[in-house]
Amino acid sequence: MKKISILVPCYNEEEVLPLYLEAIKPLMADRRYEWELLLIDDGSRDSTLSIMEQAHQHNEQIQYIELSRNFGKENALLAGLDYVTGDAVIIMDVDLQHPVNVIPEMIKKWENGYDDIYAKRMSRGQESWLRKLLSKCYYSLLQVSSETNVYPNVGDFRLLDRQCIQALRTLRESDRYTKGMYAYIGFRKTSIDFAQENRAAGSSKWSYYKLFGLALNGILSSSIRPLQIATKTGVLVSLIAFMYLLWVFFKSLLYGDPVRGFPTLIIVILFLGGLQLLSIGILGEYIGRIFHESKRRPSYFIRTHNGKKI
Ligand code: UDP
Ligand code: MG
Repeated sequence: MKKISILVPCYNEEEVLPLYLEAIKPLMADRRYEWELLLIDDGSRDSTLSIMEQAHQHNEQIQYIELSRNFGKENALLAGLDYVTGDAVIIMDVDLQHPVNVIPEMIKKWENGYDDIYAKRMSRGQESWLRKLLSKCYYSLLQVSSETNVYPNVGDFRLLDRQCIQALRTLRESDRYTKGMYAYIGFRKTSIDFAQENRAAGSSKWSYYKLFGLALNGILSSSIRPLQIATKTGVLVSLIAFMYLLWVFFKSLLYGDPVRGFPTLIIVILFLGGLQLLSIGILGEYIGRIFHESKRRPSYFIRTHNGKKI
């Protein structure tokens, strides 16, 4: 019998975790498969962990891992991928924004030979218009700047075959941008549409500030195109400056035109200064990433696995 793992990262989710456990129960009663629910406690400070503990005691299909602190969703997911034992894994959020009723369809596609079945949001639930607009702009920017194809409106909600799990386990960079990784590993992909629900309870853990960081990371961690853009802009600006120089030179030589234009000069200096700072900034972002990466620190530490220290 094939085994399917469900991987769910949780951070301060005491309000919604019991609801989730109820919602996923019918699915795990399907006798055609063996099931495993792996909950990751990403350093929660509320009673999330004790809810997991109780769930594990009542049902041995439910496993849980307690991380030593909050490492962020991306790292929590890696921890989970390292420990799932199924022939496939379904990754989903705990807040019921990812509807359980899409999963049987995913499994069907998996049985038909697909390796990575990702769910695509058709509606984004009750998110603010600003958030929707920003997300749209961001994905267009990402399309231009990144080397692998990251799909818009596709998140972590997906089913991955064992081969994909193994591939993802080998990608151990500390700057984790999982969306880019799914694109990077390849394999046979297909999508399923779903309508995103609202968060069932609790609140989203993403502030605009954190989202901005994530967005920047998305671009910088999967591509060196910003560096190339900086170089090309540099070349273009120098060319324009050189032609302008020739023009001014011959104009004053031929017509004896006195060189005027203090404002133009200031504008050009400020423009170039800005460009240089931006380029140095981009360089700095990459150097910072190299710095973090070169330390080769593990992405997470586990305190307990099913209540036992490891
Ligand atoms: N999450 C996590 N660690 C974090 C932040 C979030 O494991 O540091 C989990 C969270 O418990 C949830 C999922 O990641 O299961 C998505 O989080 P959230 O719903 O806050 O994000 P959104 O849906 O707003 O993008
Ligand atoms: Mg959510």
